Amino acid sequence: MRLVKKISPAIENTSIDLFEDTIQNLDLALKYANIDPEAVEILKHPKAILQVSIPVRMDDGSLHVFEGYRVQHNDTRGPTKGGIRYHPNVNLSEIKALAFWMTCKCAVTGLPFGGAKGGVIVSPKDLSLLELERLSRGFIHEIADFIGPEIDIPAPDVYTNAMIMGWMMDEYSKIRRQRVPAVITGKPIPLGGSLGRDEATGRGVYYCVKELEKIRKWNPQKIRVAVQGFGNVGQAVAKLLHADGYKIVAVSDSKGGIYSDKGFDIPSLLYSKNETRQLKAIYCKGTVCEMVDADFISNEQLLELDVDLLIPAALENQITLRNVNQIQAPVIIEAANGPISSDAFEILYKKGTLTVPDILANAGGVTVSYFEWVQNKTGYYWPLEEIHQKLQTIMGREFHAVYRLKEEKQIDMRIAAYTHALTRIGEAIESQGTQKYFSRGMLQQ
Ligand code: NAD
Repeated sequence: MRLVKKISPAIENTSIDLFEDTIQNLDLALKYANIDPEAVEILKHPKAILQVSIPVRMDDGSLHVFEGYRVQHNDTRGPTKGGIRYHPNVNLSEIKALAFWMTCKCAVTGLPFGGAKGGVIVSPKDLSLLELERLSRGFIHEIADFIGPEIDIPAPDVYTNAMIMGWMMDEYSKIRRQRVPAVITGKPIPLGGSLGRDEATGRGVYYCVKELEKIRKWNPQKIRVAVQGFGNVGQAVAKLLHADGYKIVAVSDSKGGIYSDKGFDIPSLLYSKNETRQLKAIYCKGTVCEMVDADFISNEQLLELDVDLLIPAALENQITLRNVNQIQAPVIIEAANGPISSDAFEILYKKGTLTVPDILANAGGVTVSYFEWVQNKTGYYWPLEEIHQKLQTIMGREFHAVYRLKEEKQIDMRIAAYTHALTRIGEAIESQGTQKYFSRGMLQQ
């Protein structure tokens, strides 16, 4: 276990420093949040950073040492909470930014949590399942003293799933010599997972669309939607919108996308993706499959389509200064974390695009994770309908709080969401005393 005090330049090797880029939002939000600037100063620095090396015995007998991180950003409002990502491009700046977003996301939704994130530099598709299990257990072994149900609670993120969370919970429980389901969320249901967690992030995005539908008086049949990323989040939101009559005209995964002006039958795409692990415009009934008309498009082309609603649900930095001027969709919902860079966001706002920011739009996942944690701690499990209804209440309430703020202050929704979050975090920081409070105390003595 190694605590990193200084960040090595070798680790910070992305073209946009995601953490530096994203904390700019704090200064912008401070203008509208009536809180002490000290709160912003605290939030500009993650609370703690842990870097670990994870030696893993590979199936061929060789040893591979993987590098991983866990960043706790801020815990003023409660234990820190955030996913663990497996990806070859994981780097510390990205994990710091993701941890910061988790602090803001939990505050936007009013959950009693701070923010954290973890990641391992690995291409999980290159590992066997046994190697993946050894890596997952090894990572928990290295970070066990850093996490806990009242300290820091991990969850799934890109290329990690319920089974991996189950292995991680099991490993932590072995170390503590007691069953500790509340240490991690997103677990399989038989191991203490919550109903509805698997599709919660996509469902949260869907509830945002439903609020927009009321505001913009949309007729779903006339709304053409493009979804970038067809994983956990992209699939869930595409399925729910399609069931409501929305026309999903384009979807993509890491290998590229497909486009059809008529719109896709999403259950058929899901079936073929799950059967073949490939995104194909093939519809099957029993053993009879037919290819439907579709164009192959790249991920760049998908983002630039003339659609009514664009939902980036893959990775960060997909819309930047490089392509922002080609983006045509009048409404964008950031289902992924950070798909639009701050400078591109500003340009979109100036040209009248309505953009629902990640810290609000994809907060459904952490909200149901919170429900899972509560259920694990009380040992009482809720039915699916209750989870959907509680999630819809929170997403609807906070969507409108942010939308109202945007209207009142005439700011874009990203700054409105940060202002909303910063007000809640700032109030918590202020209640522990700021310079104003302590100087007054000295004068009184
Ligand atoms: P996932 O691993 O299930 O799916 C990711 C999808 O993106 C896959 O279809 C993959 O093929 C695709 N993809 C990868 N690289 C791509 C590229 N360069 N261009 C286009 N597509 C690409 O991950 P997920 O859980 O669906 O997460 C997606 C995003 O949502 C991430 O930004 C994640 O941080 C965010 N998020 C996820 C959750 C959650 O509960 N899963 C919660 C909050 C935020």
